[in-house]
Amino acid sequence: MFAAYTMSPEFIQTQTDITRIISRHLKLEEGRRILKGNCPFHADHSDSLMVSPVKNIFKCFGCGKEGGPIEFVMAMENMSYDEAVKSLALEFGV
Ligand SMILES: [Zn+2]
Repeated sequence: MFAAYTMSPEFIQTQTDITRIISRHLKLEEGRRILKGNCPFHADHSDSLMVSPVKNIFKCFGCGKEGGPIEFVMAMENMSYDEAVKSLALEFGV
Protein backbone atom coordinates (compact mmCIF):
# COMPACT_ATOMS: atom_id res chain seq x y z
CA MET A 1 0.00 0.00 0.00
CA PHE A 2 1.22 3.47 -0.89
CA ALA A 3 1.22 6.30 1.59
CA ALA A 4 -0.62 9.35 0.32
CA TYR A 5 2.49 11.47 -0.04
CA THR A 6 4.22 8.90 -2.24
CA MET A 7 1.35 8.68 -4.71
CA SER A 8 2.29 10.41 -7.94
CA PRO A 9 -0.34 12.02 -10.16
CA GLU A 10 0.47 9.36 -12.76
CA PHE A 11 -0.25 6.60 -10.25
CA ILE A 12 -3.50 8.23 -9.22
CA GLN A 13 -4.57 8.78 -12.80
CA THR A 14 -4.11 5.13 -13.72
CA GLN A 15 -4.78 3.26 -10.49
CA THR A 16 -7.69 4.95 -8.74
CA ASP A 17 -10.97 3.37 -9.83
CA ILE A 18 -12.72 5.86 -12.12
CA THR A 19 -15.93 3.83 -12.09
CA ARG A 20 -16.12 4.15 -8.33
CA ILE A 21 -15.34 7.88 -8.42
CA ILE A 22 -17.94 8.70 -11.06
CA SER A 23 -20.57 6.39 -9.57
CA ARG A 24 -20.69 8.58 -6.50
CA HIS A 25 -22.17 11.38 -8.60
CA LEU A 26 -24.26 9.67 -11.24
CA LYS A 27 -25.71 6.31 -12.11
CA LEU A 28 -23.67 4.34 -14.61
CA GLU A 29 -25.39 1.85 -16.85
CA GLU A 30 -23.75 -1.54 -16.82
CA GLY A 31 -21.82 -2.59 -19.87
CA ARG A 32 -19.09 -5.03 -20.67
CA ARG A 33 -16.33 -2.62 -21.63
CA ILE A 34 -17.89 0.82 -21.69
CA LEU A 35 -20.24 2.22 -19.06
CA LYS A 36 -22.64 5.03 -19.89
CA GLY A 37 -24.13 7.76 -17.77
CA ASN A 38 -25.85 11.11 -17.76
CA CYS A 39 -23.12 13.71 -18.11
CA PRO A 40 -23.01 16.04 -15.08
CA PHE A 41 -21.15 18.73 -17.06
CA HIS A 42 -23.87 19.70 -19.54
CA ALA A 43 -27.64 19.35 -19.88
CA ASP A 44 -27.58 15.75 -20.96
CA HIS A 45 -30.68 13.79 -21.95
CA SER A 46 -29.12 10.84 -23.69
CA ASP A 47 -26.39 9.32 -21.51
CA SER A 48 -23.56 10.92 -23.45
CA LEU A 49 -20.88 10.18 -20.87
CA MET A 50 -18.83 7.07 -21.59
CA VAL A 51 -16.55 5.51 -19.00
CA SER A 52 -13.85 2.98 -19.78
CA PRO A 53 -12.80 1.05 -16.67
CA VAL A 54 -10.05 -0.64 -18.69
CA LYS A 55 -8.42 2.64 -19.74
CA ASN A 56 -9.57 4.41 -16.55
CA ILE A 57 -10.88 7.39 -18.50
CA PHE A 58 -14.17 9.13 -19.24
CA LYS A 59 -15.35 11.04 -22.27
CA CYS A 60 -18.55 12.92 -22.97
CA PHE A 61 -19.73 12.87 -26.56
CA GLY A 62 -22.09 15.74 -25.85
CA CYS A 63 -19.84 18.45 -24.43
CA GLY A 64 -16.44 16.93 -25.12
CA LYS A 65 -15.29 16.81 -21.51
CA GLU A 66 -12.80 14.01 -21.00
CA GLY A 67 -9.97 12.81 -18.85
CA GLY A 68 -9.11 10.52 -15.98
CA PRO A 69 -9.95 10.46 -12.27
CA ILE A 70 -8.09 13.73 -11.65
CA GLU A 71 -9.97 15.69 -14.35
CA PHE A 72 -13.31 14.28 -13.18
CA VAL A 73 -12.74 15.29 -9.56
CA MET A 74 -11.44 18.72 -10.60
CA ALA A 75 -14.59 19.42 -12.64
CA MET A 76 -17.05 17.78 -10.27
CA GLU A 77 -15.70 19.17 -7.01
CA ASN A 78 -14.47 22.44 -8.50
CA MET A 79 -10.93 21.75 -7.33
CA SER A 80 -7.52 22.71 -8.66
CA TYR A 81 -5.27 20.00 -10.08
CA ASP A 82 -3.25 19.81 -6.86
CA GLU A 83 -6.38 19.65 -4.70
CA ALA A 84 -7.84 16.84 -6.80
CA VAL A 85 -4.60 14.86 -6.63
CA LYS A 86 -4.44 15.30 -2.86
CA SER A 87 -8.08 14.36 -2.40
CA LEU A 88 -7.71 11.17 -4.45
CA ALA A 89 -4.42 10.30 -2.75
CA LEU A 90 -6.05 10.60 0.65
CA GLU A 91 -9.03 8.51 -0.37
CA PHE A 92 -7.22 5.74 -2.18
CA GLY A 93 -3.90 5.79 -0.35
CA VAL A 94 -5.21 4.83 3.08
ZN1 LIG B 1 -21.16 16.40 -21.26
